[in-house]
Amino acid sequence: MEYTHLFGPVCSRRLGRSLGIDLVPFKTCTFDCIYCECGATTHKTIQREEFFPVSEPEVELIRFLSGEPDLDFITFSGSGEPTLSLSIGEIIRLLKRDYPAYRVAVLTNGSLLHMPDVRADLLPADVVLPTLSSTFPKTFNRIHRPAGGLIPAQIIEGLSRFRQEFDGEIWLEVFIIPGLNTTPDELDGLRDAIGRIRPDRIQLNTLDRPGTEEWVRPADTDELGRIAKVLGLPGTESIESVRYAPGASIPTGDMGAYILAMLKRRPCTLEDITAVTGLRRTEISKYLRQFEEMRILDTKKEDRGVFYRVRDQPVDTSE
Ligand code: SF4
Repeated sequence: MEYTHLFGPVCSRRLGRSLGIDLVPFKTCTFDCIYCECGATTHKTIQREEFFPVSEPEVELIRFLSGEPDLDFITFSGSGEPTLSLSIGEIIRLLKRDYPAYRVAVLTNGSLLHMPDVRADLLPADVVLPTLSSTFPKTFNRIHRPAGGLIPAQIIEGLSRFRQEFDGEIWLEVFIIPGLNTTPDELDGLRDAIGRIRPDRIQLNTLDRPGTEEWVRPADTDELGRIAKVLGLPGTESIESVRYAPGASIPTGDMGAYILAMLKRRPCTLEDITAVTGLRRTEISKYLRQFEEMRILDTKKEDRGVFYRVRDQPVDTSE
């Protein structure tokens, strides 16, 4: 069976062995972040929709989970902002009702949590991972380039309300962009907002692979440590570079198609692919050479190595 809405399992830095569910078409988001690994947003909107019949991801999940895979999380993420999907609540409820052994996570930019129906949809999840990178509209707009009408005060209010209603864990991502949200004023604003949101964890993240804009640079470990110290909030941690457990995720079937699907979603190094697939480097190199000969890959040298990415085109989510 070809999967259109499921991807992975992948070894995620934050969530371990994670099966992804993608409920929005590429690339549909409320933001167009300068650091987005998926590429530029082509459909920027705040309008929630049922982009696909809810039965499509449900059938795929039932099929995949019938094999009782070993997973740390089933995670809503993928080609944009998952809370834009009107199906998300129903699918989370199905998972918690029929597959209670699996923990459910939602990776969201948090921009729609001021809407009561979005908060209600996420209530049965186990972990929600929203993002907050600035409380200042000017910086916020520069980083996230949001759809019209989204402002940080509204997002902070939505997150605070969600905290009051939600029994699960909130792991708040603060995406650090040196020179943009690292000034004393920015960090003071974040500290105050985080105090209102009261997340269980605060995860400082930074660019780990090529983002949308060339000029965005990552924060180094020292800088992240300094920021954690300035924030001075318990539960703050840095998300270090990817450390996949070797061979932890062993996909089956057409490995070339699997690798291509990975590279369509986000840029990866040879080491990333090795760790996720468990294949030998020489074997992966063979696939990468083939894709390069077909002229479907771009490469980019970064601090962490050479990243491979499928040339700009809509994501084909079949694996
Ligand atoms: S990083 Fe997340 S919120 Fe930002 S544009 Fe990409 S998918 Fe949307």
